[in-house]
Amino acid sequence: MKNLIYAAMLMGAAAAAMAEFPDKPITVVVPFAAGGPTDKVARDLGEMLRKQLNQSIIIENVGGAGGTLGAAKVAKASADGYTLLLHHIGMATSPALYRKLPYDTLSDFEYLGMINEVPMTLIGRSTLPANNFAELRKWIDTNKGKINLANAGLGAASHLCGLLFQQSIAVDMTTVPYKGTAPAMTDLLGGQVDLMCDQTTNTSQQIESGKVKAFGVTTAKRLNTPALAKLPTLEESGLKGFNVSIWHGMYAPKGTPKAVVDKLNSALRAALKDPEFIKREEALGAVVMTDNRLGTAEHKKFVETEINKWGPAIKAAGQYAD
Ligand code: ASP
Repeated sequence: MKNLIYAAMLMGAAAAAMAEFPDKPITVVVPFAAGGPTDKVARDLGEMLRKQLNQSIIIENVGGAGGTLGAAKVAKASADGYTLLLHHIGMATSPALYRKLPYDTLSDFEYLGMINEVPMTLIGRSTLPANNFAELRKWIDTNKGKINLANAGLGAASHLCGLLFQQSIAVDMTTVPYKGTAPAMTDLLGGQVDLMCDQTTNTSQQIESGKVKAFGVTTAKRLNTPALAKLPTLEESGLKGFNVSIWHGMYAPKGTPKAVVDKLNSALRAALKDPEFIKREEALGAVVMTDNRLGTAEHKKFVETEINKWGPAIKAAGQYAD
């Protein structure tokens, strides 16, 4: 009897602790440098989550190795809901790219729901002697072996998009990895690298102000934003089937209590309905998630589908890191 009472008291205490979650600030690890597209989504969403959870959201940038360092940090963090990960398509491409990935994408995380889908753009330094895709193709052909393509490391969206671009025109370029596309953009603006494929959430303003040259958008249809409406798709410029949009989702360490996962999922769903968040995302060409991938099980299922979709293509391209 005594034991039963004790067990009931313990359960009551656990439920009370859960009801209070979160009672201290939550850290969201962004596995890329500050100021880049993943960081931007996290900071905008963090503002909305703060309103929902009534707690501060701290963004911690853990860039490097295409996002795998930040993901590994969260996989090993306490499973209490206070350390979360906001990551993109790299969650699904890293398992094929890294021989020794320090975590298992499907079994080391609780899936909290997806956030958005974001198109990408092919951009170049402003001093490139090409003003459209046809001129870029000619410049690439006459400069083979000398072209630098920036990315955020193996497994980053910029790596994946750049890889598809090189494959589709059958030209190899020298890739220059950074801890995120924010520092890559700084070098592109400074003319130290030639080209980059990056999310519209990072490139729109630079394209609009003419600080970089834009050669195409990676969606099937042109985008309808002030900065990008005039930009042709890569497909209409001749790269048949070139269609890459990336996505972001949120994760917690495996073993995070279900009540905490549910609370975070509800907060995320509510945050994504915030008109201010939707307005900011749409202005940059991103689409806020509204379909069933807002659900935790559906999010995980989708990532599994993406792993199966990209894995063979990446392996066929012979891209590996130890
Ligand atoms: N999303 C970028 C990429 O994958 C990296 C970043 O967010 O900085 O290239």
